[in-house]
Amino acid sequence: MCRMKKILHIFFVLMTISLVLCLASAMFFESFHADHDCTGEDCPICQIIQNIRTSVKSLVLLLSSTAVFISTTSFITFTADNLNQFYSNSLVAQKVKISD
Ligand SMILES: [Zn+2]
Repeated sequence: MCRMKKILHIFFVLMTISLVLCLASAMFFESFHADHDCTGEDCPICQIIQNIRTSVKSLVLLLSSTAVFISTTSFITFTADNLNQFYSNSLVAQKVKISD
């Protein structure tokens, strides 16, 4: 179990590094070619910049949906644990007879 956590931790660190590198290279490319000599309608640099913007938008959507999923899952788990603890401490769960 501990080894699995370590592997997951390494995986998430590598994914974060690759994500940061992708975003940094996209920003670098766009800033480097911001004032290029545009050839017009079928400019390959403008097409690449458009693809980068679309990819970054998709990535932001993916990251935000992942954050919402993780926070919702954490909230549900936290609430379920608290409800379980609340009901396990009730008189009915402990089977206490009040008439005694
Ligand atoms: Zn262009």
